[in-house]
Amino acid sequence: MISNNLQEVRHTLDNGVCLVAVSKYHPVEAVQEAYAVGQRIFGESREQELRIKHESLPKDIQWHFIGHLQTNKVKYIAPYIAMIETVDSLKLMKEIDRQGAKCGRVIDILLELHLAQEDTKSGMTPSDCLALLDGGEWREMRNIRIRGIMMMASNTDDTEEIRREFLLARDFFNAVKAKHFANDTAFDTKSYGMSHDYLLAQQCGSNHVRVGSRIFG
Ligand SMILES: *Cc1c(COP(=O)(O)O)cnc(C)c1O
Repeated sequence: MISNNLQEVRHTLDNGVCLVAVSKYHPVEAVQEAYAVGQRIFGESREQELRIKHESLPKDIQWHFIGHLQTNKVKYIAPYIAMIETVDSLKLMKEIDRQGAKCGRVIDILLELHLAQEDTKSGMTPSDCLALLDGGEWREMRNIRIRGIMMMASNTDDTEEIRREFLLARDFFNAVKAKHFANDTAFDTKSYGMSHDYLLAQQCGSNHVRVGSRIFG
């Protein structure tokens, strides 16, 4: 079933869109099933669950961290994490840089934006995010690489509201790219879109979707 779902999702992706298979809460066997049909990028939202999966699964899997990350947990994932998608403060960024240096890695990160209407969602407001970038401290951090932005739309059936938020994310990406990363080809990632809205997300410029239940049930 998982392999069928995965093929179906892949067939609906535009060229160049990266698929993160979100395996949180699903067992190692589920990841293995997706791995067997070529999936290599997986998303997890809890450090402990990720640790167990990382230890027991093939080492060529690229793990993306997509949950809220406490600074005291960074040291556990720094040695192997492929991307931390949920960076929402300068403090967290500094800690990732520090732990990256300790293990001799440059860690890819995304800036997590809060654009949804509910205040339960994490992430930075666009103005906080701009202030962080304008501050410029990140330019001295040798062990992180800022790859782009990540966001979660409001949990609503209102398609127009979701579209509005996706377009805000796209426009924010473009503005930040022009202002701070114009000559940096690595700043290339717009991570938005989940099981119920990734098709709309693609139409709104996403090139990195995080799909869980549509694949794993
Ligand atoms: C769980 C989760 C997803 C996947 O959600 P589905 O609706 O199962 O596709 C994507 N992004 C984040 C940040 C998540 O926590």
